[in-house]
Amino acid sequence: MSGHSHDHDDPDYSVLPSDPALRVKSLETLLVNKGLVDPAALDAFIDSFQNDIGPKNGARVVAKAWCDAAYRERLLADATSAIAELGFSGIQGEHMAAVENTDDVHNMVVCTLCSCYPWPVLGIPPTWYKSFEYRSRAVVDPRGVLAEFGVELPEGTSVQVWDSTAEIRYLVIPKRPEDTESLSESQLAELVTRDSMIGTGVISPPGDSNDD
Ligand code: FE
Repeated sequence: MSGHSHDHDDPDYSVLPSDPALRVKSLETLLVNKGLVDPAALDAFIDSFQNDIGPKNGARVVAKAWCDAAYRERLLADATSAIAELGFSGIQGEHMAAVENTDDVHNMVVCTLCSCYPWPVLGIPPTWYKSFEYRSRAVVDPRGVLAEFGVELPEGTSVQVWDSTAEIRYLVIPKRPEDTESLSESQLAELVTRDSMIGTGVISPPGDSNDD
C-alpha cells in the first residue's frame, strides 16, 4: 500500500478473520462496499456453483451407477477412482466414499467439525450444510432434520449418518425413483438433486410436482 498517512479508503486486510468462510465474507463486503463487485452477480455465481455446476457432476455419477451395474460395483468399492473415470477429481475429492440408499437404510452426510464436502461432485456446500444447527443436529436427531427437509422415511428404514472429514468425503447414491425404466442415463441424471446426494432429500418420480 502507498505511504500516505490517512487511511480513509484503504481496507486494512490484516484485520480479516482467519476462518476462511469469514475471511471470504469480509473480503466480499470490502469489495462490495468499494463498488468493485456487484453483490447480485456474486450471488448468482455462488448459486450456480451450489446448485448447477457442481451437483450436475454428482448426478452423472449417480445416473451411471443406476444404469451400469459394473460401474455401481466400482463406485461402491473405490469411489475416488470410479468418479475420476467420469473426469471428476481434484481438490476436496481425493478420498471419496459412495454410500447407497436402500429400503433398509437411508444415508445422510454431515461434517460435524466444519464443512468438509466433495467439491468435484457437488460443488460448494450450501449455507445450511455449514450451519452449526445442521452440524450439531444431524447426528443427534437425523429424523427430525430430515422431516424439516420434507423427507419422511418408512418406519423400517434406518438412518445412517456419515461424518465427512478431510480424510473421507461421502456421496450418497439415492434410490432410483419408480417408473423410470424408460429413461436414458442423461434423463435420469436430470432427476438427481443436490440434496438427494447429501441425503437430506429423496428423488421424486418424474412428473410429480416438485414443490419443495
Ligand atoms: Fe469439515
